[in-house]
Amino acid sequence: MDDGRPAKRVKLEETPTELKTEPPPASVQGIPQGEPWLEDGNVILVAQDGTGFRVFQSVLSKNSAVFREMFAASRLPTSEVVEGCSVYRLSDTGSDLHHVLQALFDSGATKLPFSSVAAMLRIGSKYLIEHLREDAIQRLRENFPNQLSLDIKARLHGTFQNGVITDLSLQDSFTVVSLAWECNVPQLLPTAYYNLAQMSMDVLISGHVDSEGRIWELSKDDLKRIAKGQAHLRRSVAAQVKFVLFMETSSACLASGVDRPCWGIICGLRELCFSLINTCLGALNPWHIWIANQKLCADCTKHFSDQSVAERTKAWSMLAKWFDLDIEWPVPATIQISAISATRTQ
Ligand SMILES: [Zn+2]
Repeated sequence: MDDGRPAKRVKLEETPTELKTEPPPASVQGIPQGEPWLEDGNVILVAQDGTGFRVFQSVLSKNSAVFREMFAASRLPTSEVVEGCSVYRLSDTGSDLHHVLQALFDSGATKLPFSSVAAMLRIGSKYLIEHLREDAIQRLRENFPNQLSLDIKARLHGTFQNGVITDLSLQDSFTVVSLAWECNVPQLLPTAYYNLAQMSMDVLISGHVDSEGRIWELSKDDLKRIAKGQAHLRRSVAAQVKFVLFMETSSACLASGVDRPCWGIICGLRELCFSLINTCLGALNPWHIWIANQKLCADCTKHFSDQSVAERTKAWSMLAKWFDLDIEWPVPATIQISAISATRTQ
């Protein structure tokens, strides 16, 4: 830890132009109706942007101790009432409330957009709606896994087939880093920082505007972690292809001499590998599969694949440490992700 500050310092803003192209929603006594708006609902939650959501108080109370206490504590004669419903004005965004209330009152979707999952984690954590929080974590864990796999790149890039998050992009890692700190899900951090480490410093400093117009920016502390991690990842990629850089063949290589086929193949890969070590930080990519496709002899293929697998496995096990994260990593397969607490280096 470098400066002793918590790592999560991602700014969240909401653009004032939200919904600018939508027709104005129906409103009741000046409260625009959001979704859900249940005609027989008995409570109206109003988001920070003024959008109202009419739902059932009993369902909120049943699912959330925070709502339960809020309703119990606010039975005052001065409470705002619209159409017989008590009105509660909250600091949450209209988008977050929309996603979470849809999940609570119209559940059953097996696949959800990232914005819904993010809202479920954020609001589920804030209002102690445990099953929503857990659902969000399980979904995120598909793309930010605890275990190393051959398809890790597809998972991290959101191109994982049949994923339960429908539209995850690499840039959503800006949001995931922030949420992981905010909602205490530290085991999402190593892979989320790894994703960010694949980006240029220019992109990292510029931040990310998500699909709902929110601006996500990294803190100085985040940038330090990423810069530190990038140096380790660069060295790991070099180690995984070093047989090319050093023009080695296996000591058991069947074809000896300077004109041996393996040596010629390795010479042919030099330019690519010199370019790679300057530009590629994909230490978790399955380089051993790439090696296996180079038509080296069986001895060389095994020798260098084994070295690469060892380096890749090391990169996975060191990921948290390389990003300066004081958390348990790698996560034992038997431990639930949400049961583990982050030790923040304050
Ligand atoms: Zn060989």
